[in-house]
Amino acid sequence: MPAVPETSTLTDGFHLVVEALKLNDLDTIYGVVGIPVTDLARLAQASGIRYIGLRHESAAGHAAAITGYLTQKPGICLTVSAPGFLNGMVALANATTNGFPMIQISGSSNRATVDLQQGEYEELDQMNAAKPFAKAAYRIERPEDIGIGVARAIRAAVSGRPGGVYLDLPGAILGAALDAEAGAKSLVRVVDAAPRQLPAPEAITRALDLLATAKRPLIILGKGAAYAQADDDIRTFVERTRIPFLPMSMAKGLLPDNHSQSVAAARHIALAKADVVMLIGARLNWLLGHGASPQWSATARFIQLDVLPTEIDSNRAIAAPVVGDIASAIAQLLSALKPGQIRPSPEWVDELGAQKAKNAKHMEANLAAPHANPLGFYSALGAIKKVLADKPDVYLVNEGANTLDITRNVIDMHAPRRRLDCGTWGVMGVGLGFAIAAAVTSGKPVVAIEGDSAFGFSGMEIETVCRYSLPVVIIVFNNGGIYRGDDVNLGGGSDPAPTALMKDAHYEKLIEAFGGDGYYAADPQSLRNALGEALASGRPSLINCAIDPKLGTESGHIGNLNPHSEVHAPVH
Ligand code: ADP
Ligand code: MG
Repeated sequence: MPAVPETSTLTDGFHLVVEALKLNDLDTIYGVVGIPVTDLARLAQASGIRYIGLRHESAAGHAAAITGYLTQKPGICLTVSAPGFLNGMVALANATTNGFPMIQISGSSNRATVDLQQGEYEELDQMNAAKPFAKAAYRIERPEDIGIGVARAIRAAVSGRPGGVYLDLPGAILGAALDAEAGAKSLVRVVDAAPRQLPAPEAITRALDLLATAKRPLIILGKGAAYAQADDDIRTFVERTRIPFLPMSMAKGLLPDNHSQSVAAARHIALAKADVVMLIGARLNWLLGHGASPQWSATARFIQLDVLPTEIDSNRAIAAPVVGDIASAIAQLLSALKPGQIRPSPEWVDELGAQKAKNAKHMEANLAAPHANPLGFYSALGAIKKVLADKPDVYLVNEGANTLDITRNVIDMHAPRRRLDCGTWGVMGVGLGFAIAAAVTSGKPVVAIEGDSAFGFSGMEIETVCRYSLPVVIIVFNNGGIYRGDDVNLGGGSDPAPTALMKDAHYEKLIEAFGGDGYYAADPQSLRNALGEALASGRPSLINCAIDPKLGTESGHIGNLNPHSEVHAPVH
């Protein structure tokens, strides 16, 4: 590095990173500090960036990722070298898989000795380790490159299909001095980080022409549609065409779940019988049976709106691709749409309506089920549903197996981007990081409905919730195990079964240790009271909800993916 003239004012890598983030309106960092990034967090906080310190890097990464999903700006996660970096990788990979924009900034150890494998403190070639899990990975080697490095990371995170970006900062670069004026000049304010991508006009015409031939059209809304923040245009398009729609999990609430055109309650026949399907920001991955029969009609034709050209034809042929950003694509579809051009047949609407009514009755009966003390999944969710019915602004975080599947079906969403869950991977451990970020980003109340196993992955973050006094209510669906709580040890020994957890655990006492409010509920009325009280107080709260250990199916609604041994061990 050139010698700095004695008369000049100096800056250093720490200051330049903070200034680069601020210059790009990145106002929150989630992280866990330690060598070599502690002063980076201190300085960020002193400079007006909000620093939220979590207890585990994975939770910090999930918090950053969901902040990106909610704001369209990259969420920032700060980690220490090697093990801290690796703990963050699950979240970074999950962000990339789901299309959430985030940047994991990690300190790293001395490169010269790391690369020669000379036994450095926390030795790991982090940038190369990150590559397979990240949309992009960069390392900054000189303090004068910090501005450009941060700019590249921002662009990579939010442009096109958003994803997780890794930014490596060796400790030496953070501490390195640079002439302050030269440093200030090296910073970059990113212009138009996620440029609009307009679909070609012929793609719009092709899509509308195909849709006009449909008798049994169906729109599938995915989290890409929710991410795009084109809420009004999407609703207008759906309502003008009167096409029945089906929301993917995190797209629930983009149009309210009680909308007359929602066919969520008739999902099975909607998929099986649709003749033209319009995918808006949803992939034909495992969550949609790869678009294959028998779940789908073999003759159905597909329209797909997606920002990523290579997503098209990924699982089945797409007759009308519309490649572009969803906000632009929907706006163009709306302006090209002629009045009355597209109408589902009355028979299709009636058929779906009849199925919906039938399933709604079934659901009502489930919710009124006699299961009380201990609760069943449905009786517990029936109570929660009543409390949340008139609170459309509450964020709902949800993870688990049965807890996830049944909550998704029971709890209606009424506003966009309020449901945050396990996403594309079905990952466990996102719950508390998502809840913390939703509360920090929005200032609104958050309810996290967590399976008892799912809660355990990030349970220590209740200390974070209490330390920052966040309006988060955690409801632990405690059925004493993974899937269910009554499994037995096939070897007959005294060790619990692999799926077993402590069913009599008093999770509510955990939050009391940190000054939060603990509640115990074993019947619908006490659950309703507890949730109502916790939400009204706005205080960190945990409701331990006693669910019958005999309830819950293996792997929830995706038991078909779970290979089972045909060779049974003797049960003693
Ligand atoms: P879901 O799980 O809800 O079905 P997916 O994650 O499978 O959603 O699909 C989301 C899709 O949306 C991805 O293919 C992604 O490329 C796309 N996408 C994300 N953001 C945008 C956007 N702003 N415009 C267009 N497509 C987007
Ligand atoms: Mg459980």
